[in-house]
Amino acid sequence: MDRTLSGETKVCGIFGNPIRHSASPRMHGAAYRALGLNWVYVPFLVEPDSLATAVKAIRSLGIMGVNVTIPHKEQVIPLLDELDDSAHRSGSVNTIVRRGNRLIGYSTDGDGLLLSLKRELNRDVLGQSIFLIGAGGAARSIAFSVVAAGASSLWVSNRTRFRADALCHDIRQVFPNCQVHAMDEGSPKMDDALRHADIVINTTPIGMAPNVDAIPYSSIAWVTDKHLVCDIIYKPHPTRWLKEVAERGAQTVGGAGMLAGQGILAFHLFTGFEVPYDIMRNEV
Ligand code: NAP
Repeated sequence: MDRTLSGETKVCGIFGNPIRHSASPRMHGAAYRALGLNWVYVPFLVEPDSLATAVKAIRSLGIMGVNVTIPHKEQVIPLLDELDDSAHRSGSVNTIVRRGNRLIGYSTDGDGLLLSLKRELNRDVLGQSIFLIGAGGAARSIAFSVVAAGASSLWVSNRTRFRADALCHDIRQVFPNCQVHAMDEGSPKMDDALRHADIVINTTPIGMAPNVDAIPYSSIAWVTDKHLVCDIIYKPHPTRWLKEVAERGAQTVGGAGMLAGQGILAFHLFTGFEVPYDIMRNEV
């Protein structure tokens, strides 16, 4: 620690359980140092039955804002005063900002992925066909971000079909001109849809440590060197799935850049400052 806490120090943090392996304190700490800000970022281990008390403490302790991670991203919603569109649409909150006494929820996951694609690969999603595997909170955030950024079509496949249907329905309500299709996991048409996609994104935890041998979809026959395949898992890097599709020629990107991207966007909401991408990316 190369800073001294003082009466002026502003406090941010992260609520989660488990929390000890979170990279966010390192990422935000590096950003404060780079910008010379007298701020600290604290990992808070919050049990589910303490979440409401912890959220109240943001107000009572004058905390500037917190990130929210597993398992609180959905449960925290009714405890907030207001939701930004990003959180409302994705049904999950990864960032809470205190404005005066009001707590506002955001999801920076989807735009964080877009930022990482731009910064890691100089890729935009404008006019691209996107295939999402999964329809949970991260998938919803990503779906709204890619469609808002001009993706031409979106396919969603999920173990639980009705969640894929619900996501597609919600996208159509906001973006009636985007072609949106839900699909059963493992449907015979899935390889065909994957073959025609430009960007394929795994948003499920399948393949995440410790289950590092698992892959989100058994077929890789559809993969070509035209595909960009993205796995938002960042541990391990690369995942087994990314290794296999890379061997078939696809361009690949893991979840570390998205983690940095969502952190950079949260940092901006907390502090009002922009931090260079590499400052946070180097800490992941
Ligand atoms: P979530 O809301 O719980 O959604 C999980 C999704 O994965 C659901 O679609 C679920 O399908 C599917 N799924 C889970 N286990 C499955 C299995 N065994 N077989 C088939 N499908 C399965 O979780 P989330 O918050 O979206 O997070 C998902 C992943 O993204 C996690 O690995 C998380 O670490 C990662 N993530 C990364 C970043 C980053 O910055 N890189 C940010 C956010 C999240 P059902 O609907 O059928 O349950």
